[in-house]
Amino acid sequence: MAIATDIATVWSQVLDIVRAELNTPSFKTWFEHTAPLEITDDGAFVIGVQNDFARAWLEDRYSQRLSAALEQVTGVGLRIQIVVDRDASSAEDLLLEPAVTVNPSDVTDTGSLKEAAPFKEFDPKYTFDLFVVGESNSFARNAALAVAEQPGMKYNPLFIWGGPGLGKTHLLQAIGHYVTENFPHKKVIFVTSEQFTDDFVNSLRAKRVDNFKQKYRSADVLLIDDIQFLESKEGIQEQFFNTFNELQRRGKAIVLASDRPPKDINMEERYQSRFAMGLPADIQPPNFETRLAILRQFAESQGITVQQDVLTYVAEIASPNIREMEGAMIRIGAYMDLSNRPVADLPMVRDVVKDIFPERSTRPISVATIQREAERFFGVTHSDLVGSKRSQSIVYPRQVAMYLSRELTDLSLPKIGAEFGGRDHTTVMHAQAKIQKLMGAQREVYNQIQQLTNVIKQKS
Ligand code: ADP
Ligand code: MG
Repeated sequence: MAIATDIATVWSQVLDIVRAELNTPSFKTWFEHTAPLEITDDGAFVIGVQNDFARAWLEDRYSQRLSAALEQVTGVGLRIQIVVDRDASSAEDLLLEPAVTVNPSDVTDTGSLKEAAPFKEFDPKYTFDLFVVGESNSFARNAALAVAEQPGMKYNPLFIWGGPGLGKTHLLQAIGHYVTENFPHKKVIFVTSEQFTDDFVNSLRAKRVDNFKQKYRSADVLLIDDIQFLESKEGIQEQFFNTFNELQRRGKAIVLASDRPPKDINMEERYQSRFAMGLPADIQPPNFETRLAILRQFAESQGITVQQDVLTYVAEIASPNIREMEGAMIRIGAYMDLSNRPVADLPMVRDVVKDIFPERSTRPISVATIQREAERFFGVTHSDLVGSKRSQSIVYPRQVAMYLSRELTDLSLPKIGAEFGGRDHTTVMHAQAKIQKLMGAQREVYNQIQQLTNVIKQKS
């Protein structure tokens, strides 16, 4: 009989059956790395997988399906036994046809290694209209609006500072939106200080420093985000201050954002004092009412209908980081889609959110941690995760890791792109939208994201 001699063929037929039944992006992720090892004397068909996550996942969710398929192929009742086998060779050759999982147009991953470029457009949701004003942020918001209304006339530079996820980038981009709409002839440049640095380094390499200077000095409004990254980079600090002085002298508007006040930025004092000479404006963590108002607006914008006590509950337990709060709402929305619930009620939400805000982790989560745990979870290597392969079994874990980097860290899109092998910020945006959509469409994706978040939070 075939089974004794050719377990590879059997397994390949089993996978064919399972593949036809499953329609999830993770089919390849979980099954591609399985390898048939042996049939034991006591009737177990032993499958090797690369790690413990994969073993538990397959055992929990697929052992019945696999047994049934195995019986169908062999005609005898064999037990499935899944073991961790670190050398399990990829069974990719058994999966000649790509698993049909998601719409191919959804999985494009440009993976381009573009040089740092400023945003071509601002994030459409980062406008003044969509910025909820409360006690904690009204000072910074009013200052930002004043600059937007009369660029260069007031508060030059405006220096916005505050903790992660409190709305600094939102305000910078709101200025960008406002100025481009109301003063179309004015040139607005928005970059993070890291993009500014990369741009300079690239211009040096290409011997085009003049172009660099000209580009930044032609701005009417220069918005530089996360200025703290200029710390301990003396060469670029000097470039930056040359640009800064030149723009200021000509009455052009400069707005900077940082995670700390000017005096705490580790730079020469003459630089620090330049930051402080305009208007330093801080954003504080939002109080309960503001959190509630932001949540309500966000739920509405996402078309998520929730009971009032749900909003109150989330606003109560959420961290001050607004990005995290929005992440919780996105998962609530995804869960509602999956379970066909028109309205979110409290018991459901408690259940969804308990995984998102577990015991407070005190240290900030790093992209490195997210990548490491995603690699372990999906059984892919680091070089694949950040590399250029575009097979679905790699693209999907990569997109999940990008999604979580967006949600769980306060890094900018370009910075996250850089951490994933120098990808463009639009690739990160695409991954975020794609995973958000999948979460609401496929329970398995939702479960994976919840589970992976848990692991990451525990490891931080
Ligand atoms: P930061 O740059 O300070 O880390 P962001 O500006 O990226 O924070 O804000 C994080 C998220 O919270 C964004 O999605 C942003 O739109 C949202 N957000 C922050 N503050 C507000 C606010 N006052 N009203 C509405 N949304 C806000
Ligand atoms: Mg920011």
